[in-house]
Amino acid sequence: MTEEPGSAKVASGGVVCSFCRRRAAISQKSTGLHLCQEHFVQDFESRVASTLEKNGMIRDCERIAVAVSGGKDSSALLLSLHKILTGRDVELVAVTVDEGIAGYRDDTISAARSVASGLGIEHVIVSFREEFGYDLDEMVRGKSVAPCTYCGVFRKNALNRMAKLLHADKVATGHNLDDEAQTVMMNYLKGDYERLMRFRPKSARAGLVFRIKPLRQMPEKEIALYCMVKGAFFPSRECPYADLSLRADVRDMMNRLESLFPGVKQSTVSGFEGIVSQAGGATKVELAACRECGEPCVGQICKACELLAGLKSI
Ligand code: SF4
Repeated sequence: MTEEPGSAKVASGGVVCSFCRRRAAISQKSTGLHLCQEHFVQDFESRVASTLEKNGMIRDCERIAVAVSGGKDSSALLLSLHKILTGRDVELVAVTVDEGIAGYRDDTISAARSVASGLGIEHVIVSFREEFGYDLDEMVRGKSVAPCTYCGVFRKNALNRMAKLLHADKVATGHNLDDEAQTVMMNYLKGDYERLMRFRPKSARAGLVFRIKPLRQMPEKEIALYCMVKGAFFPSRECPYADLSLRADVRDMMNRLESLFPGVKQSTVSGFEGIVSQAGGATKVELAACRECGEPCVGQICKACELLAGLKSI
């Protein structure tokens, strides 16, 4: 077996599936099971289905805007949702946000187009340039602020606007267990209690299309394997800005810890959920309409308009 950081190992050699004796593709530390490709796919999809079910994430007659960047997480999200929801009265529409990152986003957009068209799912693309007048590359040129700050704010804004245009009931994103653990840990490390509490599950709020994260219990390594087994192509190159964020260091730290102490990613997330339930569950922040763009926000002006004003003033 090949040692890998994460809660699962890629199986090799003579390890066989716990169910059918075929060659195992993966060994799960959390369950002690060895799974061949076929049983792994079944297990993956049944865990995603169980997350949907437990949290009542998707109901019949809903239209779901699935955020598909073309990376492995969102490709696995679209593939698994399509499989799980086939036969149900639920409509999926894939939405790709083109931030305008030269030498990176074009490849992932092709991958998003290919996975959506392979499944016969409508696919729309919304770009920062069309929505806000600038590519991300232009926004961050010569700035000391981390590109991910601009990217995250404008991407959320663009997705929400597009989801409303598409009359979507919900937006599904490909955040996985690793992302969730990193976000909790980053906020602990920054001592950012407010942001940490904002990460609590949200109740529905006017103007904000409700967001769901069906892959939030799935480790990144299993997501990559799922894409491989399903034959989904995704570019392996990382965003050129990824290393400039605190998240990159936290990701490396969490991977190292997980290889030493299997289960720490899961316990980081479940520990936070314990704190959330002690703190009274879902957040109920009242939102107002931004006086510039009308999008929901906490104060008088949303973060996207605040950042845009900064860009225009230069
Ligand atoms: Fe955007 Fe940062 Fe992700 Fe790159 S790494 S796509 S800049 S959030």
